[in-house]
Amino acid sequence: MTINGKQSLETLPGVGPARKKALLRLGLSTVDELLDYFPREYEDRTVIPSLSEAEEEVPVCFEAMVSEPFHTSRIRKGMDVTKGKISDHTEQIAVTFFNQAYVAPNLIYGESYVFYGKLTGTGSRRQMTNPYFERVGEGKLTGGIIPVYPLTAGISQNFLAGLVRRSMPYAAEKQETLPSMLLCQYQLAQVEFCYRNIHFPETWEDLALARRRLIFEELLCLSLGLALLRERRSEGVAFSFEQVELGEFVCGLPFSLTNAQQRSMQEMAGDLRQTRPMNRLLQGDVGSGKTVVAAACVWLAWQNGCQSALMAPTDLLARQHYRTMDSLLGACGLRIGLLTGSMTEKQKRRVREAASLGELDLLVGTHALLTEEVQFHHLGMVITDEQHRFGVMQRAALSAKAGEGFRPHVLVMSATPIPRTLALMIYGELDLSIIDELPPGRKPVATYIIGEDKRTRLNRFIMKQIQEGRQVYLVCPMVEEGGALELKAAEQYGTYLQNEVFPELNLAVLHGKMKGKNKEHIMEDFVQGKVQMMVSTTVIEVGMDVPNASLMIVENAERFGLSQLHQLRGRVGRGDHPSYCILISETKSTHTMERLKALASTTDGFRIAEEDLKLRGPGDFFGSRQHGLPQLKIADLAGDMRLLREAQEASRVLLDQDPKLENPSHQVLREKVMRLFEEHRDNFT
Ligand code: ADP
Ligand code: MG
Repeated sequence: MTINGKQSLETLPGVGPARKKALLRLGLSTVDELLDYFPREYEDRTVIPSLSEAEEEVPVCFEAMVSEPFHTSRIRKGMDVTKGKISDHTEQIAVTFFNQAYVAPNLIYGESYVFYGKLTGTGSRRQMTNPYFERVGEGKLTGGIIPVYPLTAGISQNFLAGLVRRSMPYAAEKQETLPSMLLCQYQLAQVEFCYRNIHFPETWEDLALARRRLIFEELLCLSLGLALLRERRSEGVAFSFEQVELGEFVCGLPFSLTNAQQRSMQEMAGDLRQTRPMNRLLQGDVGSGKTVVAAACVWLAWQNGCQSALMAPTDLLARQHYRTMDSLLGACGLRIGLLTGSMTEKQKRRVREAASLGELDLLVGTHALLTEEVQFHHLGMVITDEQHRFGVMQRAALSAKAGEGFRPHVLVMSATPIPRTLALMIYGELDLSIIDELPPGRKPVATYIIGEDKRTRLNRFIMKQIQEGRQVYLVCPMVEEGGALELKAAEQYGTYLQNEVFPELNLAVLHGKMKGKNKEHIMEDFVQGKVQMMVSTTVIEVGMDVPNASLMIVENAERFGLSQLHQLRGRVGRGDHPSYCILISETKSTHTMERLKALASTTDGFRIAEEDLKLRGPGDFFGSRQHGLPQLKIADLAGDMRLLREAQEASRVLLDQDPKLENPSHQVLREKVMRLFEEHRDNFT
């Protein structure tokens, strides 16, 4: 039987309706998808133990001879057992099969077989039930390196591996995706070799070769896809600014700038004189003062007759930016508007109208800025904060609002230090400004990890801080209680604290599910010091700026990523007061405790991010898929830096020759790129 890639898996033997459904849960419906379903890991069965060395209760594989013939007896209607004994030179054990009478003739007295299964019982009672077995030398159970696939209920390792094996002939017919020039230049294995060896490698070297090529290919597709997406928005020129003197703006500021802030502003002013649009990433740790640099850009745009847009990932942050911009720029005469999803339709309409008529110089907002109704009169500057939270397409959409043939200058702000290669991948060719200096007078936040036994002391400490006039944040991992885990939930816990622990305090609860108006009021009360303690979820993670707050408490700290905890910690220590971050955790895991200790021992955001990246990979690092990159099957953006660079280089060379990947010889590759970017497909065609 010949097999083709589009063929449905139910046409293969052994796949009935139930298994078809189970396979679908793994995202598998065709042979193509099955071959692209790579093992999670591999078991080394090149060295197999003797019987006496084999452990109990874990899958083991060993060779043994049938030392007592297998006999089947019926124990009741519909139930029979087949029993016998096997041994090697170290031990003899009993083996039982239920309802598998057909095995008896296949297990011949005096002959040797390879068995795979779990041993139960101890000492002389050790035995095995329903093991897999094969003749020595057959090589399905042993013979080397066995793939381990991610599974679902109703699908066993053996079944899945069998299915893949049956589909293997198709690997020979798979079309080569990569131009032979690339295979040669980067010494990549052929497609058939890769599919055979990623599933059933004969040696670890073969596996490494297969992996290398498949990773390269995936990274190349990613790189090509992003480049093609960018290409679509790179047409057009920017408005070059004539006036780039910042003196007047700087004089009006309530503080003097740090050297790093000044340097960043100068770098940007240099960009803005060009007709090539600015595309700059401003990286600076939490509290390093990125906002005022953004304000300088807005000010310059205004001086040169252009409008600006500033986009933030949350309602809360957008509102705060609006307030900050208003205080920094409002006095200069800039007209500033706010647009968020939680405003009424009427309010939104009025703001949109003002923006399109050019009656606003700066529009601050959330994703709401991206909707089609939002038009600008003369958009020259686009700024996004915590940019990694927006997808590729969302960024492009905002830039497109500059109008036909025009591109705005783009500034991206991030407190998450991203390794440069990864940044290039996500943001494209971009320049980098780094604020590596905190405003003067900042004291590092003292960080402690405590358990429940210190709760009473902590409560006394909270009271003390508040009596001294400070304010306190307490962050919980979830909004509502429920679920099996015992997590402190903001809503219930806030009520409990208010009623039972701190009745005399002014306490407020803040979480993402609340209405914008409510959030705004609570925020405002906190900013003004009316609320002394804020119990919240991570909505306050990004950007909240209340210098009087001096104590950050995080419940169930083990639930958070290190970068996230670092962000939370950055909410305090913004004023002149000594500040504290208390991480509460009852974790028993030494690994988790190590992570928390790593955080407590450093305030270097870059080191923390790298630690995080190592531990959790980029998907988690940026929040679940919030970086807007497609899901990768085999490549790991954190681990394969060298291959990543090679793939990017290859992508550039390919696109130089064939900018839209239209050449017939690139069609298979183009197909693959499109499949990877399924969700952005419209933008390719
Ligand atoms: P982030 O980089 O985390 O966005 P912000 O821009 O919110 O930091 O700035 C943090 C705080 O530091 C704000 O209260 C801001 O007013 C203050 N700040 C910024 N730059 C300076 C400076 N040069 N001197 C003193 N305070 C500053
Ligand atoms: Mg900020």
